[in-house]
Amino acid sequence: MNNYHTHTWRCKHADGTVTDYAEAAKAAHLQTLGMSDHTPLPDNRWPFIRMEYNEIDAYIQEIEEARKNVSGITLLQGLECDWAREYKNYYQEELLGKRDFDYLIGAVHWFPYHGDWLYTGDIEHASHLKAFSSHIIEAMECGLFSFIAHPDSFGIGYKLWDENTESCSRDIITAAGELNIPLEINGYGLRKPDIVTPTGKRKQYPLLPFWKIAGEARITAVCNSDAHTPGDVGASLEETRALAEKYSVQVLDEIPLLKKAV
Ligand SMILES: [Zn+2]
Ligand SMILES: [Zn+2]
Repeated sequence: MNNYHTHTWRCKHADGTVTDYAEAAKAAHLQTLGMSDHTPLPDNRWPFIRMEYNEIDAYIQEIEEARKNVSGITLLQGLECDWAREYKNYYQEELLGKRDFDYLIGAVHWFPYHGDWLYTGDIEHASHLKAFSSHIIEAMECGLFSFIAHPDSFGIGYKLWDENTESCSRDIITAAGELNIPLEINGYGLRKPDIVTPTGKRKQYPLLPFWKIAGEARITAVCNSDAHTPGDVGASLEETRALAEKYSVQVLDEIPLLKKAV
């Protein structure tokens, strides 16, 4: 099995060096490990969950060193990239181009709403869901991302499943199908505390009704651990794959590497 979503100590909310993860991945019998720490941003925006911009070379170096330190596993150099239109050139020309990243993950942790940026955990209303889906679809349309991380993370904030979450999900899934971009079944939400909703407890994500729609729409998915500690490098891969199987979602073992196409 492979895991393409892995953070390191540099993002300020995870443990472990790249070599620590590579060793743990080898011990867990993974074939490919994708390192995907939160991207540094040229303006050092949202600094509390990411490395500084001036750390990017050291991050690349750390991956190079881990490739030398740990044999028998394929290590990919990636980043989890918050989508904002103003970063498109940076992602395309500097990260995929000049710095030769193997892949980028598109992610929405914040999205524009009435002139400000709203955090996904603060989604409460139908209008928030609409703004979230629009932003995530814009991320897909930029064509730079190998897959889209946790597309169902709106459920951290919006507790109920209703016609609003259903239409948000359909919008995201339809766009993923049309643009032929995989969506991620992210295992981290299975390891976080359950959410209490008016209809009972559930996992933060993946959201089961979302993946039911995804299965009916025949889109593709990537199953990842979203490890924040080396011991979790292969965590939740079996559970997320079982979920995909339950809803007949096709899982890709290998992600599309897009850098040659841009
Ligand atoms: Zn994320
Ligand atoms: Zn992540």
